[in-house]
Amino acid sequence: MKLEGGCYCGAVRYEAEGEPLMQAQCHCRECQYITGGSPNMFVAMPIDSFKYTKGAPKQFTRKDLEKPVTRELCAECGTHMVTRPQRPVVVVKVGTLDQPAQIMPKVAIFTIDKQPFHHVPDGMPAFERRPT
Ligand SMILES: [Zn+2]
Ligand SMILES: [Zn+2]
Repeated sequence: MKLEGGCYCGAVRYEAEGEPLMQAQCHCRECQYITGGSPNMFVAMPIDSFKYTKGAPKQFTRKDLEKPVTRELCAECGTHMVTRPQRPVVVVKVGTLDQPAQIMPKVAIFTIDKQPFHHVPDGMPAFERRPT
């Protein structure tokens, strides 16, 4: 699968070519800050499959957490495109793809933080935290 995308203003562009490791919606509290309150739709790609093709993102890593993720966003328009956990994976926000419908979330995670207005489709496997 070839994915292309970028930020809202176009200053930063990326592409990823490979097999998605996970297509999911994350209900965690952290993701709610980034999405505006809804679950975060993401596709996890192998780290080597992902590269920036235009511009470079600003990186942000919290210093007060034991195992923080690094978040990558456009310094111009603020769009959050990518999260890098401390594993060989790049978590891409589906809303930043040129064609978001390339991805279909298949699983709901961190439903422990789910809000009453969040929706998990009928039949979608859901996990309080991560799938084991
Ligand atoms: Zn931008
Ligand atoms: Zn999350």
